[in-house]
Amino acid sequence: MRSNRRAEGGADFRIGEGSDLHRLESGRRLVIGCIEVPSDVGSFGHSDGDVVAHAVCDAVLGALALGDIGTHFPPTDERWRGADSRVFLAHAMRLARERGARIVNVDVTVELERPKLAPYLGDMCRELARVLGCAAAAVSVKAKTAEGLGAVGEGKAIAARAVVLLAVRSST
Ligand code: MG
Repeated sequence: MRSNRRAEGGADFRIGEGSDLHRLESGRRLVIGCIEVPSDVGSFGHSDGDVVAHAVCDAVLGALALGDIGTHFPPTDERWRGADSRVFLAHAMRLARERGARIVNVDVTVELERPKLAPYLGDMCRELARVLGCAAAAVSVKAKTAEGLGAVGEGKAIAARAVVLLAVRSST
C-alpha cells in the first residue's frame, strides 16, 4: 500500500487511532481486552461489548485507511449479535497482512470506575498480542478512573482509546 513517508529500513509507517464507549448494565458480561473481568455490571453492545478490542480494531483499520469497525461489521447484521470481538480484530489484521503491514506497537487506555483492572492488564496484553500476531511486549493496556465525573465516573459507561503503529513492507 502507498504511504506518505518513507522511513529507514525499507518500511513505511502508518499510525491509527480508535476509541469506543459502551453503556454498563447489570446482567451483562464485562469483556475488556478479550478477557472476561468479574463484575456486577457488564458492557451493553451488539457484540460482546469489548471497548478495548473495538478501539484497537478501529485503530488498525484507521492506519490502513479502511474505514472503521462499523464499515466491516454493521451493527444491523444479526451475525454479529453477541460476537466475540476477537473475530473483528482477526479480520482487521488479515486486511493488514494482505497489505504487507504488521504491528509495531499498540497503546490502549481504558476508562472505568470499577472494578479495578490492574490484576487483569497483563492477561489483556497477552491475549490481544496473540490475536494481533505480535509480541506481548508490543501491547500496552493502561487503566484509569474518571474521578467520579461524567458517565464513566458515575459507573454508567466504559470507554477506551487506542493508538496503533503499523510497519508496511516497502513494495520497491
Ligand atoms: Mg464498540
